[in-house]
Amino acid sequence: MDEKIRDLRERARAAIAETAQSLGELNDIRVKFLGKKGEMTVLLRSMSALAQEERPRIGKIVNEARAELEELLAAKSEELAQRELADKIAAEQIDVTLPGRTAPVGHLHPLTITLDRIKKIFLQMGFTIEEGPEIESDYYNFEALNLPKDHPARDMQDSFYITEDILLRSQTSPVQARTMQKNEPNTPIRMIAPGRVYRRDSYDATHSPMFTQVEGLVIDKGISFADLKGTLELCLHQLFDADAKVRFRPSFFPFTEPSTEVDISCSSCHGAGCRVCKGTGWLEILGAGMVHPNVLRMSGYDPTQVSGFAFGMGVERIAMLAYGVDDLRLFYDNDVRFLHQF
Ligand SMILES: [Zn+2]
Repeated sequence: MDEKIRDLRERARAAIAETAQSLGELNDIRVKFLGKKGEMTVLLRSMSALAQEERPRIGKIVNEARAELEELLAAKSEELAQRELADKIAAEQIDVTLPGRTAPVGHLHPLTITLDRIKKIFLQMGFTIEEGPEIESDYYNFEALNLPKDHPARDMQDSFYITEDILLRSQTSPVQARTMQKNEPNTPIRMIAPGRVYRRDSYDATHSPMFTQVEGLVIDKGISFADLKGTLELCLHQLFDADAKVRFRPSFFPFTEPSTEVDISCSSCHGAGCRVCKGTGWLEILGAGMVHPNVLRMSGYDPTQVSGFAFGMGVERIAMLAYGVDDLRLFYDNDVRFLHQF
């Protein structure tokens, strides 16, 4: 009996000291030796077979062994709990020196930046900003602008028709007619109308079936071509280069008379001729003219009382020139590597 107890005690000590690597394993050892069906319990039950006088001595040894093992178990349990906690802390440690995860911040599109610059120039001159629908009636898109159904100049703007009378606007000029009609007749107007316009066009480096336009309209008593020149020169000098030369060439638009194309001297070569200006020294920027009396009349204004001028420019073209972009399509590809350059 003595032998059995000594053996049990030694195996239990070794198991606690060396085998147990986790609290789970330690508990298995506890059950194996001290559990209800454990070796110690079995040993105690076998004491009934001992002689009466032997029992107290053996009982004492068993109790000592039991007390020792429980102490060892408790100490090991504490040690393992500490180690598991330390491992957990190490595994979950946060390195505060790592850079944080930043949310990517957006960026204004170069067309938006350009349009904002144009708006700012005209707001400083006291213009209002007007808007209108992109799906427009034939009447506002053409007829109210002196382009009756059979007018050959309609061919200049191949359009997207939705029905016979409804189309995607091919210019922002309808906003001019809408603004005039909203007003009392002959009310002075100083406005720009920025927005998207649509034309049936090829999609290449300089054309797109959708692009952005800014049109302007000034109407008042005694507005002359000199006002047109002064306003547009001021605008172009602010937009490009204060020293740029501005040139007015005769042109034709159905809604203005006389009409003009407005060029500035090429900022890349200063007039000497280069690839950007195709060797001419000039860059075509916008079209303008004095509002045709028919356009005034059609919207209830009296051409004997008031006069005005109108102009229109493509925002993409201005952005291309201002930023040296040589392919219009880059603006619509939405490649962030391109967009982040502005
Ligand atoms: Zn040039």
